[in-house]
Amino acid sequence: MNEREDLIFNINSQCGLTFPEFENTGSQNDIPEKFLRKSALEINNAGEFDVVRHFTRLSRQNHSVDVGFYPLGSCTMKYNPKINETICSMDEFTRVHPLLPASFTQGNLEIMWELGEALKDITGMDGVTLQPAAGAHGEFAGILMIRAYHIDRGDKRATILIPDSAHGTNPSSVAMCGYSVKEIKSTKDGTIDMDDLKEKLTTDVAGLMITNPNTLGLFETDILKIAEMVHSVGALLYNDGANLNAILGKCRPGDIGFDISHINLHKTFSTPHGGGGPGSGPLTVKKHLVEYLPLPIIEKDKEKYSMRWDKEPSIGKVSSFYGNFGVLVRALAYIKALGADGLKKVSETAVLNANYLKEHLKKYYKLAFDKTCMHEFVLSGFEKDSSVHTIDIAKRLLDYGYHAPTIYFPLIVKEAIMIEPTETESLKSMDEFIEIMIKIHEERKNNPELLHNAPCNTIVSRLDEVKAIKQPDVCWNK
Ligand SMILES: *Cc1c(COP(=O)(O)O)cnc(C)c1O
Repeated sequence: MNEREDLIFNINSQCGLTFPEFENTGSQNDIPEKFLRKSALEINNAGEFDVVRHFTRLSRQNHSVDVGFYPLGSCTMKYNPKINETICSMDEFTRVHPLLPASFTQGNLEIMWELGEALKDITGMDGVTLQPAAGAHGEFAGILMIRAYHIDRGDKRATILIPDSAHGTNPSSVAMCGYSVKEIKSTKDGTIDMDDLKEKLTTDVAGLMITNPNTLGLFETDILKIAEMVHSVGALLYNDGANLNAILGKCRPGDIGFDISHINLHKTFSTPHGGGGPGSGPLTVKKHLVEYLPLPIIEKDKEKYSMRWDKEPSIGKVSSFYGNFGVLVRALAYIKALGADGLKKVSETAVLNANYLKEHLKKYYKLAFDKTCMHEFVLSGFEKDSSVHTIDIAKRLLDYGYHAPTIYFPLIVKEAIMIEPTETESLKSMDEFIEIMIKIHEERKNNPELLHNAPCNTIVSRLDEVKAIKQPDVCWNK
């Protein structure tokens, strides 16, 4: 038995009720002298009312999707139904210890199993893990699985291919798994350059990692051909599923030819996103990768759910316990509430909204790729002979009460402004956004100085963003 099984066995044999190894601990006398506090803790002496006002005031200084439009491309900042928060806060979910024996947690295991089945169905795959804690973590675990797959076949490959429009986490995850990254160029249409791919797709390539639709909001129309080419040299095709919100119920990565896909539950399936809260990046895989999925695997046998810890040749454990369970509950609640038709409508509306904004804004801002987009599109804030740049436009949006879109990404568009409205914005809120963007366009011509100094209406103006991370100033009572 390994250590974890040992522990579980221990808990099982104790009926999950006593933990003898923890008895007689925790009393102050057991804490070594050097760790004991020498003087009273300095706590600010404020009344409840003062504390409530302080935090309420701070919370009102934040922008959030509950306050206003949040068109952050690549991130899918959609509305999260509040009922999902209520559901995942229920005692049955929050007061359960993850090391309880399976006989105590059948309902929780059933939720995970059902979510896994739904994600397999949505992505057209054969196996699933819910453990990765974010998209980037899914990438890391997925590349480890690709590596295990090749090693098992005695196949030494050292390279992963990634298009130049990719999200920064893609090359980082790949490098962390010990592979070298080769970049594939995009054509002037914004999709993968097939000639460049052909040239770089050698037998040294372990896999190609792509985002479809890509970060320019464009569907890779050569994807079937790409899958065939990748497989013909024995490599695997990884789908960065961050943009799944654009294709739900329309096409499935598994049917297209992907071998593996991550899914950002906090983007596509309703989990509050941003602010560094917990996320979840499940992986779904085709048959030939199932045996490499991380442990434990949730299994169902005649209405009984259990966890398997002993499967070889799994890549092993990738996160504490079984992932971020609260996020999984929210995602299943969302999927069940919407159903297959509802999910399809999500994508149709997200794509319609993005094209609506694109068509209106392209009269005032340069559109990077003038064709039908998926769930997002990219403008360029660059204008020859203008002293105003993308950063100024983004900062001015804050003055008007909007969160800025994603800017300066993807890198292949000069001064990119990447806008994703999502399916949950009303026509009215999109029209108001268009109006403000036109206003900023006018200000650029008539009063560039104003834009250089923006934001003027916020509590702080331009911050040193790097310093803000390195030296956070969170002092009370400023
Ligand atoms: C968000 C995103 C990621 C990373 O996902 P996280 O959940 O933030 O770790 C990867 N690729 C793309 C295209 C993304 O938009």
